[in-house]
This record gives sequence, C-alpha cells and structure tokens, in this order.
Amino acid sequence: MKIDFNKNKDGLVPAIIQDVITKKVLMLGYMNEEAFKKTNDTKQVTFYSRTKQRLWTKGEESGNFLNLLDIKLDCDNDTLLIQVNPKGPTCHNGSDTCWNEENTETHGFISQLENIIKDRKENSNPEDSYVASLFEKGINKIAQKVGEEAVEVVIEAKDNDDDLFLNESADLLFHYLILLQAKGFQMQDVINILKKRHSN
Ligand code: AMP
Ligand code: ZN
Ligand code: ZN
Ligand code: ZN
Repeated sequence: MKIDFNKNKDGLVPAIIQDVITKKVLMLGYMNEEAFKKTNDTKQVTFYSRTKQRLWTKGEESGNFLNLLDIKLDCDNDTLLIQVNPKGPTCHNGSDTCWNEENTETHGFISQLENIIKDRKENSNPEDSYVASLFEKGINKIAQKVGEEAVEVVIEAKDNDDDLFLNESADLLFHYLILLQAKGFQMQDVINILKKRHSN
C-alpha cells in the first residue's frame, strides 16, 4: 500500500473509521506513518493526535478500542478508509459515532420503506392511504394479502415473463413489510434470526 503521507505538509493522512458491519462512519482521525504501522501491527486503530501531539491508540483510557478488520486506500492514495469492529461507543462523549448517531444497521431503501409504512400506520387516514387502510382491516387481512401475493409470485415463476415475476415479487415484499410492521417487527428482527442460524 503506497500511502501519500506527504500530500499534507504535516505528514498526516485522514483516516475515516467505518463499522465493518453497519457501514456507519464512526469517527475521523489522522495517521502518520508510525500510527499506520502500529495500527497494522497491533490490529487496534492508532492515530496521531494533533491535540496530544503523540500517537494515540483509540480506547487507551476508555477501553473502547477499534479492532482492525481492513484498510482501504482511496483513488489518489491520500485518504484511508479503515473498517473496524468497535469495542463500545466510539465518541468520547459516549455516543456510538462522533456525529451523535446510533450505530445500527440500515437496509437502505428497505429501511426507508419501513419508516414510511410505520408513518402511515400511525399518522395516516385509511381514506387517503392504501397502507393505512390495510392496517385498519387488521392482521388477518394483511396476512391474507401476503398469501395472495406469494401465490402470484409462484404463478409468475412458472411463466417466462420476467417483468411480471419481478413485479409480483415487489408486491410480496411490500406486503410482507406491512405484515411485519402489523406484528410489531421489522426486517432486522428476521435478519437477526438468519444471522444466528448462519453462525451455528
Ligand atoms: P480513549 O482513546 O477512548 O481512551 O479516549 C481518550 C481521550 O481521547 C478522550 O478523553 C478524548 O480526549 C479523546 N477522544 C476519545 N475518543 C475520541 C474521538 N472519537 N474523537 C476525538 N477525540 C476522542
Ligand atoms: Zn484522495
Ligand atoms: Zn467524538
Ligand atoms: Zn400482486
């Protein structure tokens, strides 16, 4: 790895610290060549602290170490992306990230959809919202809807129309998210079970 430590005259490169699982950015620090070497040798992230003006192993007082998984160098060799497993909260003020965020997993657009479904459940009028109207009809009706969409997926799977198959798949997934919400769950709860099985 050919890191350009001299792009900044102080010999430091920024190191973006990212949780390897959630992909959340936890903090930003700076490394000189020595900090980089120590990080690689000890497998715990060590910065050069501009405040302390010395090497600083994150967690040296708090115990909240950043266990090293991978280091990636950016396109022009002057910025590090460091993937870690954080041992405890990363920010010295006790929050998970230095931007006061929770270090929880997100599933991109699926999470966005889950939030919209939750909002419709709590705040929307059944006359104005299809999702709200499903919640009003209750769990049995929603579960039945999931069953119907599942059957439609099965039917389209036997055909050769990819477009129909994908559209029915989207219907199924959408209604399944609604069913999860109606039962008080989210995709994460299901993923947690899959993960537990995976490690067995
Ligand atoms: P720690 O490395 O977690 O033992 O914390 C030691 C000291 O480093 C703290 O008292 C802060 O001054 C500083 N510090 C810890 N975490 C951070 C952080 N995420 N960003 C900036 N400074 C930090
Ligand atoms: Zn760059
Ligand atoms: Zn912080
Ligand atoms: Zn359908």
